[in-house]
Amino acid sequence: MSKRTKWDTKGDLDESKNLPIYQHKATLQQAVKDNSFLVVTGETGSGKTTQLPQYLHQAGFWSNGKIGITQPRRVAAITVAQRVSQEMHCSLGREVGYQVRFDDCTTQDTVVKYMTDGCLLREILADPVLSQYSVVILDEAHERSLNTDILLGLLKQTLSSPDKASKGRCVPLKVVVMSATLETDKLSVFLGGCPVFTIPGRTFPVTSKFSCAIGPKDTESSVYVKEVVKVALDVHTSEMAGDILVFLTGQSEIEKACDMLYEKAESIDYRYDVQDHKVEGLLILPLYGSMPTDQQKQIFQPPPPGIRKCVVATNIAATSLTINGIKYIVDSGFVKQLNHNSRVGMDILEVVPISKSEALQRAGRAGRTSAGKCFRIYSPAFWEKCMPEYTVPEIQRTSLTAVILTLKCLGVHDVIRFPYLDRPEERFILEALKQLYQCDAIDRRGKVTRLGELMVEFPLPPGLTRALLQAASLGCEDLLLPVAAMLSVENIFIRPGHPEKQKEADKKHRQLGVQAGSCNDFTMLLSVFEKCKASDAPSAWCKDNYIHWRALKSAFSVETQLREILLRLQKKRDFPMEKFDGNKSELFRRCLCTGYFTNVARRSVGKVFCTMDGHGSMVHIHPSSTLFDQEAQLDWVIFHDLLVTSRIYIRTVCPIRYDWVKDLLPKLHEVDVYELSSVAREEVTDEEVAKWVTKEAAKRQTEGSAEDV
Ligand code: ADP
Ligand code: MG
Repeated sequence: MSKRTKWDTKGDLDESKNLPIYQHKATLQQAVKDNSFLVVTGETGSGKTTQLPQYLHQAGFWSNGKIGITQPRRVAAITVAQRVSQEMHCSLGREVGYQVRFDDCTTQDTVVKYMTDGCLLREILADPVLSQYSVVILDEAHERSLNTDILLGLLKQTLSSPDKASKGRCVPLKVVVMSATLETDKLSVFLGGCPVFTIPGRTFPVTSKFSCAIGPKDTESSVYVKEVVKVALDVHTSEMAGDILVFLTGQSEIEKACDMLYEKAESIDYRYDVQDHKVEGLLILPLYGSMPTDQQKQIFQPPPPGIRKCVVATNIAATSLTINGIKYIVDSGFVKQLNHNSRVGMDILEVVPISKSEALQRAGRAGRTSAGKCFRIYSPAFWEKCMPEYTVPEIQRTSLTAVILTLKCLGVHDVIRFPYLDRPEERFILEALKQLYQCDAIDRRGKVTRLGELMVEFPLPPGLTRALLQAASLGCEDLLLPVAAMLSVENIFIRPGHPEKQKEADKKHRQLGVQAGSCNDFTMLLSVFEKCKASDAPSAWCKDNYIHWRALKSAFSVETQLREILLRLQKKRDFPMEKFDGNKSELFRRCLCTGYFTNVARRSVGKVFCTMDGHGSMVHIHPSSTLFDQEAQLDWVIFHDLLVTSRIYIRTVCPIRYDWVKDLLPKLHEVDVYELSSVAREEVTDEEVAKWVTKEAAKRQTEGSAEDV
């Protein structure tokens, strides 16, 4: 049976009455009415995300404003909205809709709105009391995403000051925080001791087995991918009927594993090789963030009779999405995570071992409807030596630059003493302030500048926004908007697995580079964007040039949206304007320097470059760059991001002249972070200080009790 086969099964929408949450419908509706804050907890799959918003809709909350539900992951927001619109018998985008970065599927009629936590944070910027909402549900709080943590602090602050909270609102806002069982007491204490509603779960025992295949030193992707494929096939041939869920870390790995599984499953002889004779085929389905949503729908449908489903997924299947019928888990023990890398001083997406609590959560997915089994491909030594007890909250391990700017724009000046559920280390906050100062978003005293107010409007990394605004002030935004859009979508260059095809693809990409005229990766992106846009048959053009058409289509849409934001800002009276006398190629690269001078490197010897940001890391140009193998002709370069493997690679690279960054570089070193961070404290009035003291004292008490429980 092909993994690409589609079939039609109407999901039984009435099954929602069988979910554990159903019996508590009335109590939950009342609890939300009675409390400003409510924490709701229950096993994954009990119906929190899909049902509670519908219950609140039925209870009439929508008549006072929208019911908003945030998700840390964009796929979860989209998939769940689709499901709920089906359950509510409306078309997606009408009563039920979703909004994620660069994709708004809502209308005037939308009253149940699923969205990413990042989107709600942007809405708060425009409307601090969220006057359009009657209820806001922060879902998946246990994931401890950076944006959800910040929203928790902001909503706590707003609702605890009655004057602020009621300004511009008819009825008070209700906030529900939903979480799998973890840390709910801590959440309740943080939110002033609000009630916790627990949905009693039904779970069945799951037996977990370790294997000796992956030890503390086996962190190579090719090794564990091979191993999960082997284990998944073993399960398929030797275990009784029931679906399999395999956890891997990302798209390319998942596709590789699916191809391997598919190939091997072809040769199974179901008369002799398979233990359970009721099992007559294997259906292999990938599940990762950037895959098309129509393919994702298949994941939830029960397989045809006799067929065993095997879903190969990222961590998204651990809590955000629940797939029914899973009886077996194959756990690779790894996850892809954004971490601050102190070696290079930047955030990097890395593959790391999961935490022990995460491993338990993964195993639990096998025990929803009957007893299940979890096959861990790693050894007990790996568990002991490599896996931390808990996952560190994102706020304590990633760059805070964008959220600190958001907080500052919301009037939270003292970002060090903001009510964080878990406080980030002060040095991370100082680092963020430093970066904001370097790209002129805040001044020497930590106050948001005019430029900072413009920057916060763009859902892009600060450096890229800075470059874009510089281009706009010089009247050449047409060069930077497509580049910003191309850097905001998934990878656009296809690199096939087959060696011959790979060569051909590389050749085509090189040709595109030559056609682009000047050789740097940013102009390459611009050129691909423009060529495809001008083509009469863009999808065929993409296919011919080994470019992802879907990614380019998104880039077109993102470019339009960024242009709209820019046009709105340019209409304002004081939009900065500057003059430039020079050629276009120089203009383009100098704009990039304004935003990326923090990512500057100089060639030292041979093909090795040294970064100039104080970390002095030794880096190499990534083989995917148009500048690869031309290192000898280069001196100074800037780059968009880093990839850390056994070497540190810089990606999306552009040669520059030292002259262009000479005046900017001192900013990298001459920053008084103390001055940046202490301004807010100097400016507070006595009255505010008194308030702080009482609040801090109360907090210390509550923090104490949080540790007690
Ligand atoms: P929780 O939020 O408590 O983890 P959910 O509300 O996500 O639970 O899931 C409740 C049920 O809805 C699960 O049985 C799940 O399989 C089902 N479900 C969720 N999304 C979909 C979908 N897109 N298609 C089919 N079933 C779905
Ligand atoms: Mg959920």
